[in-house]
Amino acid sequence: MGPDSYYDILGVSQSASDTEIKKAYRSLARKYHPDVCKEPGAEEKFKKINEAYSVLSDAQKRAQYDNMGHEAYSSASKGSYAGGGYSGGFSADFSGFGDIFETFFGGGFGGGRQRAGPRPGADLLMKMRITLEEAALGTEKEVGVDHVEPCPECDGSGSETKKTTTCPTCGGSGQMRQMSQSIFGNFVRMTPCTACGGRGRVPETRCKACGGTGHRRARQTVKVRIPPGVDTGMRLRMEGYGDAGDYGAPPGDLYIEISVAPHRSFTRRGDDLETTVDISPAQAVLGSEVEVQTIDGRTVVLNVPPGVQHNTGLKIPGEGVRWQTKPGDMLVRVRIVVPNRLTDEERELYLRLLEIEGHKPSAKGAKKGKGFFQDVVDKVKETVK
Ligand SMILES: [Zn+2]
Ligand SMILES: [Zn+2]
Repeated sequence: MGPDSYYDILGVSQSASDTEIKKAYRSLARKYHPDVCKEPGAEEKFKKINEAYSVLSDAQKRAQYDNMGHEAYSSASKGSYAGGGYSGGFSADFSGFGDIFETFFGGGFGGGRQRAGPRPGADLLMKMRITLEEAALGTEKEVGVDHVEPCPECDGSGSETKKTTTCPTCGGSGQMRQMSQSIFGNFVRMTPCTACGGRGRVPETRCKACGGTGHRRARQTVKVRIPPGVDTGMRLRMEGYGDAGDYGAPPGDLYIEISVAPHRSFTRRGDDLETTVDISPAQAVLGSEVEVQTIDGRTVVLNVPPGVQHNTGLKIPGEGVRWQTKPGDMLVRVRIVVPNRLTDEERELYLRLLEIEGHKPSAKGAKKGKGFFQDVVDKVKETVK
C-alpha cells in the first residue's frame, strides 16, 4: 500500500482485525487529540487518524479502499478560486466524526473551543445522481454550485484599500472577556469579539461592494471527475470548492454525494454486474454462442455450455465495475424461453422429439396455427383461480 496508507497511519497491518484497528485508533486519537496534544501538527495528524479510521472501520469502505488503492481512494482535488487546473477527488466520508468524539471525549470535535483568528470557509454538500454506466466506468461532469466566494472588488479583504487593521475593540486577540457571577464565585469566560467576529482584524476602509464582509454569493461551475467504482452513498471531496473563508483563511471543501440510478439491464452486486440473456430450449440443450452487451456497450460472445439449466449464472471475467486495481466480473443469468410461435418445420421437429421421448402431444399441440401453448397457460390460470 505504500507510505501514508490508512494502514500505516494507524500503524496496523493490512490484515489487521476490526478489534486491532479500533484499538490502534483509540490510542492514537487520545494521544493526538488537539485538546490534549500541544505538539505542532497534532491537529493535522489527528485528522488523518480519523480519516483512516472512518474508512478502515467500515467493512464496505475498507474493501473499496483495498480495491482502489490509496492514491485513487484518497487523493482529493486541489481546487482554487484562481480557476484553471482541477482534478477530481475521491475521498472518504468524514461526516461521522462528531459521533466518534462525543463517545470518546464527551464533546464534539473542536466544540467548546473558541479559536481566534480568521475562520476557514464552510464545507458544502451536494447530491449527484449518475447512471450505472458512469459509476462502473468513471466519468467527468460539470455541476453548478452556489457558494460564497471572495469579493472581487476587495479580493476578499473586505477593505477598499485591501488593507486591514487591528480590531480596536479586542486589540487583535479576537476574544472578549465576559464576567459572570455565581454562588461559587466569579467566572471569566472568553467569547469571540463581536466587533470583528473573532478575526482580530477589521477592514481599513469598508468595501462598498460587499459591505466589509469580503464575501459574495455566486454560482461556480465545477468539473468533477468521478472515478470508476463509486457507489450510492459515497462522497467525493473537491478540496477548496466550498465556501470562502475569512480573509487569509482557507476555503471549505465541496462534498458530492453520489447516488446511482437503477439500470434497465444490469444490477450491481458488489463489484460484479449481473444481467440476463434469453436462450431457446435448443440452445440450452446443445450449447450455443450468444452475444451479450457489456456495460460500456461492446458486444462480447458468451459460450453457453450444452445442457445448461434455467437460471444458471455464467461469468464473463473483467467486465464488471472497472476498479483501478482489479475489475469485477459480469454475471450472465441464462433464461430458457419456450417459444410460443413455431414454424411448421419447428413443430415437426418438436413432435418428432416428443415421439422419441415416448410422449403424446396434446390435442391442440399437434394442430397447426395458433395457441400451441396459450391454451395450456389459460388452463393453468383457471385452476389457480
Ligand atoms: Zn475584535
Ligand atoms: Zn469587497
